[in-house]
Amino acid sequence: MAEDQSMEAVIGLEIHVQLQTREKLFCADVVNFGAPPNTHVCPVCLGLPGALPVLNREAVALAIRTSLAFGCTVHRRSVFARKNYFYPDLPKGYQISQFEEPLATGGQVPVRLEGEEVPHLVRIRRIHMEEDAGKSIHDRFPEATAVDLNRTGTPLVEMVSEPDFRTPEQVRAYLDQVKRTLEYLEVSDCNMEEGSLRVDANVSIRPQGVTELGTKTELKNMNSFSNVEKALRVEISRQIRLVAEGGQVEHQTLLWDERAGDVRPMRSKEESHDYRYFPDPDLPALELSEAWIADLREGLPELPEERRRRFVSEYGLPEYDAGVLTAHRSLADYFEETVEQTDDPKESSNWLMGPILGLMKERDETAAELPVRPKGLASLIELVDSAVVNRRVARQVLEKMAESGRGGAEAPSAIVEEAGLAQISDAGQLQSWVEDALAAHPEEVARYRGGERRLQGFFMGEVMKRSRGKADPGEVARILGQALKG
Ligand SMILES: [Zn+2]
Repeated sequence: MAEDQSMEAVIGLEIHVQLQTREKLFCADVVNFGAPPNTHVCPVCLGLPGALPVLNREAVALAIRTSLAFGCTVHRRSVFARKNYFYPDLPKGYQISQFEEPLATGGQVPVRLEGEEVPHLVRIRRIHMEEDAGKSIHDRFPEATAVDLNRTGTPLVEMVSEPDFRTPEQVRAYLDQVKRTLEYLEVSDCNMEEGSLRVDANVSIRPQGVTELGTKTELKNMNSFSNVEKALRVEISRQIRLVAEGGQVEHQTLLWDERAGDVRPMRSKEESHDYRYFPDPDLPALELSEAWIADLREGLPELPEERRRRFVSEYGLPEYDAGVLTAHRSLADYFEETVEQTDDPKESSNWLMGPILGLMKERDETAAELPVRPKGLASLIELVDSAVVNRRVARQVLEKMAESGRGGAEAPSAIVEEAGLAQISDAGQLQSWVEDALAAHPEEVARYRGGERRLQGFFMGEVMKRSRGKADPGEVARILGQALKG
């Protein structure tokens, strides 16, 4: 075990991100996940003789936005190359990618780890554009593999990090941060299950204090962030065990097998020169104007990290709240629209972090999709503030708003009226419920008066039951306190 402790892992990541464009990277086919197989293909993406690629400007814009958001230098000139290899789902026999002269280099992502003050900096080596391949389908027909080429030519960016990770936790935090940023940028839907975001990792180990890198393995086939974390854990301990037993790590590609919870070798890795990259003769070098890059920089939205800091400074929210609320752009927007109405950041935050997040989870909807809109929530908070309903009833009103799809500013008071949910603060009515509750439980009254003060909660509950939840709890507490004194 002593040997284990002296070893450290060195991890680098490659992330493929599908850009959310209408059309493919070099032709006018529409990108459409889930369409019937081979219905979005044309001579260009099928690589038929004589077909010529034309670069999609929208894809370039999204790739530049991505590069700028991660602090990369976007190069005025980059080159598309052919990466030659044979694969059944690659009809052209090559993939168009950027190799020697990528779109962007030299970025940096600050990664926050829980409980650590200073963010861990992960350097981005390069971001380049490339086209996706098609898909081989192994499980549709018995003893046959089918090919769907709809995905062929879909625009991707590949984001390559330096080997700056030492632990699977750092990797996870980085992936979360990258995904958040991509969502804020609206460049990708980042759906891992549909393959819009794919993560490959390379892993090696070395004795702590050594700067030289060990032989690395490459991990593939991890279709969720938690699988990435698990696969890395498994692979790091496999390498440490191997070396401790006197063995050597072999350079190979490993596939994560989710069911087995283990990694297995795929094929020995081809050297990159096997691909025989050369500049694509059908595509001129991509030349970008300084003005266009500047425009795109100008158009970047506020990014998650900046927004988180602003939520703390502008609204005085605790760090924790700011982190949760800015995790998704639509949730952060929802919060700001609510506060605009309520002018009460902390109360609005409590509603979002509790009932609204609960509702989103229950209904499997984003904040943007939720039928209860910020103005509706704000009116509901207003009803609680002005003691028309108590918090408990307000939760019921919220449920009804969601169920009935009435989520606007008028909905809460309309629902309170229709369902007769308004809070009862009438002193005479409350007094009679209190008296009734006390009369029904003489034994508990005696115990309370004998010193069991915690029975206050029991009596509160009895009174609320009699009011069917509508009694003003503040008033009940006051009246109850006096009645119990006797
Ligand atoms: Zn096409």
